[in-house]
Amino acid sequence: YHATTMVLDDLGSSLRGTLDNLRGKSRISEEDIQDIVKEIQRSLLQADVDVSLVQELSDNIKTRALEEEPPGGTSPRDWVLRIVYEELVDLVGESTELPLEEQTIMLAGLQGSGKTTTAAKMAWWFSKKGLRPAVIQTDTFRPGAYDQAKQMAERAEVEFYGEPDSDDPVQIARDGLEATADADVQIVDTAGRHALEDDLIEELEQIDRTVEPDHSLLVLDAAIGQGAKDQAQKFDEAIAEGVDGVVITKLDGTAKGGGALAAVNETDSTIAFLGAGETVKDIERFEPSGFISRLLG
Ligand code: GDP
Repeated sequence: YHATTMVLDDLGSSLRGTLDNLRGKSRISEEDIQDIVKEIQRSLLQADVDVSLVQELSDNIKTRALEEEPPGGTSPRDWVLRIVYEELVDLVGESTELPLEEQTIMLAGLQGSGKTTTAAKMAWWFSKKGLRPAVIQTDTFRPGAYDQAKQMAERAEVEFYGEPDSDDPVQIARDGLEATADADVQIVDTAGRHALEDDLIEELEQIDRTVEPDHSLLVLDAAIGQGAKDQAQKFDEAIAEGVDGVVITKLDGTAKGGGALAAVNETDSTIAFLGAGETVKDIERFEPSGFISRLLG
């Protein structure tokens, strides 16, 4: 009950208004539910959430609200609120599990999605948790990637490995894992491309087979729209163990990141981190209720 009261404050103001109309009602009509669902649909579509995911959520809310009996003592309004909240949590998912232990994490994504920035941010995050991270930069494709990664690792005050003059990302990955073997968390940054080109996928496959990461995270710009599903599918196929987490970047901008949910759904994964700024500290662990209020707000 406490959780639903909290979440009411987080819901968008128009949805809150619609839910408030239910106050004191002893029965909730199909029309009431329809109004609420419409409100949620509007917000989610505006936040770039995939149409079919929105439809699925709407159907679930309608079915449950009309067919399930509220537990004794729960008012109809609180009951609907709980269903809405539970279904929204189901839509966005739980946070990717990243135990604070030794592990290797590989980052994948298109150029400009924010991989290099995220690598340094995550390293900073793990170091604040008391672990010793290292960033391994294998991006030999994008000019300036080495310098940028090195500089950000310095700002994060974490170990860094890269080879500025090499054009062999697989060899860098191999050397980097060896050179940073003392680190607890080895974060391997990979090269992107402007689009899903074959050589990007091939390169990623080779790095993946060399690194054999414990976790592979797909980095997506919050502004990603309809392309998320296709991108996620290609990356998921290229990585032997598949994508097991998503990072959404640039949430400090106007985009709400709902498009990334299609990638989460496609890869059957969850969201690990959110990025909201250009400095190494602008990272937070994904947490369902905060993200839900962002989507609906
Ligand atoms: P990569 O090509 O995937 O490695 O992408 P980069 O890490 O180089 O990021 C591309 C651009 O986006 C850079 O200018 C970053 O500073 C910027 N960027 C990355 N993450 C964020 C973020 O969370 N917020 C903002 N505002 N900018 C970001």
